[in-house]
Amino acid sequence: MAAQKLELLRRCFGYSEFRSGQDELTDALLSGRDVLGVMPTGAGKSICYQLPALLMRGITLVVSPLISLMKDQVSALTQSGVAAAYINSSLTFAQYREVLRRAQSGAYKIIYVAPERLGTADFLDFAEHADISMLAVDEAHCISQWGQDFRPSYLKIADFIASRARRPVIGAFTATATDEVKADIERLLQLRDPLRLTTGFDRPNLYFEVARPKNKQSCLEAFIARHPQQSGIVYCATRKAVEKVCADLLDHGISATRYHAGLEDEERQENQDAFIYDRARVMVATNAFGMGIDKSNVGFVVHYNMPKSIENYYQEAGRAGRDGEKAECLLLFSRGDVQTARLLITNSSGNEALSELEREQVTGRELQRLDKMVEYCTTSGCLRAALLGYFGESAPERCGNCGNCNSERTERDITVEAQKILSAVARVDSKYPYGLGTTLIMKLLLGSSERRVIQLGLDTLPTYGALRGTNQAQLREWIDLLITEGCLQSTGGERPVLHLTPEAGEVLFHGKKVIYTAIKPRSAERSAAPAAADEGLFGALKALRMSIAREENVPAYIIFTNAALTDMAAKRPRSFSELLKVSGVGQVKAKRYGKAFLDEIARYMAEERA
Ligand code: ADP
Ligand code: ZN
Repeated sequence: MAAQKLELLRRCFGYSEFRSGQDELTDALLSGRDVLGVMPTGAGKSICYQLPALLMRGITLVVSPLISLMKDQVSALTQSGVAAAYINSSLTFAQYREVLRRAQSGAYKIIYVAPERLGTADFLDFAEHADISMLAVDEAHCISQWGQDFRPSYLKIADFIASRARRPVIGAFTATATDEVKADIERLLQLRDPLRLTTGFDRPNLYFEVARPKNKQSCLEAFIARHPQQSGIVYCATRKAVEKVCADLLDHGISATRYHAGLEDEERQENQDAFIYDRARVMVATNAFGMGIDKSNVGFVVHYNMPKSIENYYQEAGRAGRDGEKAECLLLFSRGDVQTARLLITNSSGNEALSELEREQVTGRELQRLDKMVEYCTTSGCLRAALLGYFGESAPERCGNCGNCNSERTERDITVEAQKILSAVARVDSKYPYGLGTTLIMKLLLGSSERRVIQLGLDTLPTYGALRGTNQAQLREWIDLLITEGCLQSTGGERPVLHLTPEAGEVLFHGKKVIYTAIKPRSAERSAAPAAADEGLFGALKALRMSIAREENVPAYIIFTNAALTDMAAKRPRSFSELLKVSGVGQVKAKRYGKAFLDEIARYMAEERA
């Protein structure tokens, strides 16, 4: 079996070895054991069920939440010579019947199906007579109410399984690693003694960076200008921000499109396609965009606003570099975003299916997750270490491949300033036991004469104006640092206020020093590199891929991924058998496109010699 598996991986998908976890998960499913596979976005979950599906008798059903994902996966499979189909609301009734009829006659090995279809009479009737040997549940966290993407229709999967005379083996896959969600998946899908496998969450090809630009828009434009050949996603927190950022990019001649829940279905679909088919280079979107988007050649993901949690962040940022090529994930942080996120969490009406108390719990947890997100944005330590630590993984203290590791640091002793901040909070604590928010504390320290400051009598406190003339953003960062160091505590809730902690006494009375580390990323010089790869043979192969993609009306990355083209440009195959050694080139694709690419390589090399 082992040889057979590898040979199939090679022949069908064009890969010479398994990635971490794929082998074990495949084996378990083939032996009839359920699995729960937790792997980060881009790690290669699909292979874990597609490969065993091809080696098993009968049909594999894949439950998947999004129409676009199914379409994409099915065209990728078809390109690789695998008989596959999908069943969802995008089919007309006649098409739907036709797919079921063909499925009945054994035309497909793999059928993607939307969860809400599982309970329909037609489908159950089909399933009754079909030989369904495996059920794979993609994005399995959608079944959990604790997750961010709860979909009630996912609960139907269990009914479907229970209604089978012969229970298929079940594979559940997700990128969400929290214990609650994992437990929910096992319980609600009733997995039987599953192989639980969580692979490492590190994505070594992703470069992480956090910036606090004065002007986000110009920072974004400069960033995109430094990545001239790449396509990327810009995530914003609100629809309004999407509209504004997208319009500004278009004004600056950048080929951009947009996506959010406020657009008509038709426009959303159109814009999504424009991005996937590389007609628009940049997608500006809310977090409504992306789940199930498989586009593998995304070179960067910028967060224009901070997301609500590290789970969200890692999933969204993880859409960069799925093809294994180097990619960049930049987060533009501003304090205002924290407040926006807080409001989005506390004002959301919540999940109707939950009781009042449960809803409160959910909100509480979301606020905790938000705090962790803020910690990520304000740490001076290694960003990768922070992310991996959050997912419970140990990591080297410095990765050498993130904005914080790769930056100029200057340390400054701010003990005196810290003492002034802390005494101001102490005064406020004794005068206003409820405490004041960061903004007012800052105004007090800066000696603002705003009405509210005077009304509250802050100007009568001895610390009024103690840090007059300090840059406001700078003062914010110092306060953030004191929070991180545990000298100050910011209460959660809708209107967080600052209080002193016992730790503050160390700084105020016992000579503990406070050191502030200013971080200046060196990204500008560094990011110039990847673009260079776009020249030469790689560029020529890309152009060829684009023209074939246009002709066949499929996304370019479905034909060959960027990683495959990079490898091809490096190996410069001259024959069919050499071409098959390129990573990502399987038999069927080699047959279909091989000649065109070999010709292009030969032409390029002849030109080079001339
Ligand atoms: P996920 O669903 O986990 O986000 P995918 O299944 O979409 O990830 O795979 C991500 C990318 O990795 C795809 O381009 C896929 O072709 C590639 N890939 C998967 N397995 C391998 C492998 N063993 N070797 C090389 N590339 C792989
Ligand atoms: Zn690092």
